Amino acid sequence: MSLKSKVAVVTGSTSGIGLAIARALAREGADIVLNGFGKPEDIEAARSGIEREFGVRCAHSPADMTKPAEIAAMIAKAQADFGSVDILVNNAGIQFVSPVDEFPPEKWEQILAINLSSAFYAMRAAVPGMKAKGWGRIISTASAHSKVASPFKSAYVAAKHGLDGLSKTLALEVARDGITVNCISPGYVWTPLVENQIPDTMKARGLTREQVINDVMLEAQPTKQFVKPEDVAALAVFLCSDAAAQITGANLSIDGGWTAE
Ligand code: NAD
Repeated sequence: MSLKSKVAVVTGSTSGIGLAIARALAREGADIVLNGFGKPEDIEAARSGIEREFGVRCAHSPADMTKPAEIAAMIAKAQADFGSVDILVNNAGIQFVSPVDEFPPEKWEQILAINLSSAFYAMRAAVPGMKAKGWGRIISTASAHSKVASPFKSAYVAAKHGLDGLSKTLALEVARDGITVNCISPGYVWTPLVENQIPDTMKARGLTREQVINDVMLEAQPTKQFVKPEDVAALAVFLCSDAAAQITGANLSIDGGWTAE
């Protein structure tokens, strides 16, 4: 498969799953707009590395996914500089672990903004161009938590369930426009997002680091293994292929069997 001449915007792609997806799409020939935060030298290394390794164009947008105007400007700049946005991957996301009655309201608002509303603003900006070309792929990194809940993750679970509903709704709206809209729902993938939630989970549940990894995280996954970012990326690449043209409105699990239980 070749994604040559396609342009992909991947939100939250300076790290973890998003970076793996960006690199996998670039390997297939797509031009890439990276997005996300980080040390300038790390971002530049990721950006120039993609250009060098895969021979594609790669830019970085610093757009903050809590800011609708910056999201719209990111899509418009990608269209202006690279000619179109053919593939949109809504991947930016954060986590916060706390009981509902202690959950800081500002964290609730931030998670809803980054993990859910940013996808809405990116979709509404990108869909007209995809409709005009009669081709588009919209993929959102949801989560096993778009299908089932865990205690102490109220905002995350609410946002991810919402992302599934948003994605299905848009899938129906653009079903005849050559645009597919899907969610990928990983279980635990070993990334900074997972590593950083270990201390708060230790506190919320009164457990050691090893107990959180083995008795909370891997306990959820019958295979007892973490999912690899590259595996999630391979599924995203497949969803961009012609063979996946009839997969739309789907929420595909890649979770070691978690949501089968
Ligand atoms: P990560 O922390 O490695 O990456 C998150 C990315 O989002 C980074 O590039 C970060 O800079 C970016 N980001 C954060 N806030 C932002 C903002 N306001 N504006 C723009 N970018 C912002 O995390 P990850 O594990 O790779 O997670 C990526 C996605 O996968 C998230 O949506 C997450 O919910 C989802 N997910 C992760 C797992 C997992 O186990 N790691 C499981 C299921 C779903």
